[in-house]
Amino acid sequence: MIHLEVLTAESAVVSTDVDSVVATTLDGQIGILRGHVPLVTVLQPGELVLRVGDQETYLSVSGGFLRVMADGVVVLADACEYAEEIDIERAEAARQRAEVLLRSGSPETDAAAAEAALRRSIARLRVADRYRARYRRRHVPQL
Ligand code: ATP
Repeated sequence: MIHLEVLTAESAVVSTDVDSVVATTLDGQIGILRGHVPLVTVLQPGELVLRVGDQETYLSVSGGFLRVMADGVVVLADACEYAEEIDIERAEAARQRAEVLLRSGSPETDAAAAEAALRRSIARLRVADRYRARYRRRHVPQL
């Protein structure tokens, strides 16, 4: 197993041993197993998947850094939520707000901030959706 810490400014969201971690870096998804070479990379807003046996846990990470060391993995994130904690209405509202701002093209708009907010909200909606899809599949009654 590999030890994983996910830290935000507010709290230690995760501190646990996992079989693997999948994270969303600027270059795409990266899967980390025990024995992975040490590295530091930048995360983009996206999904973090923790696997223990056949159990998967999904989190949304709003961007940050991932460090792989010999004895574990540390994620330093601006924000991070477990899929089941994501408030979908809030994320949808944030997405719409960001889209309106970006469409307005007003010189007062901080386009980079609006773009970042849009990406965070889309990441949250995707993670929440994926979690709900998995949950539904597992609870489909057997015919
Ligand atoms: P909003 O505009 O809705 O505040 P945001 O992207 O600006 O969204 P962040 O700055 O990334 O929010 O996060 C601020 C705090 O709110 C963090 O603790 C984050 O985990 C939490 N948070 C943000 N959006 C959601 C959401 N949709 N569901 C649950 N927690 C959220």
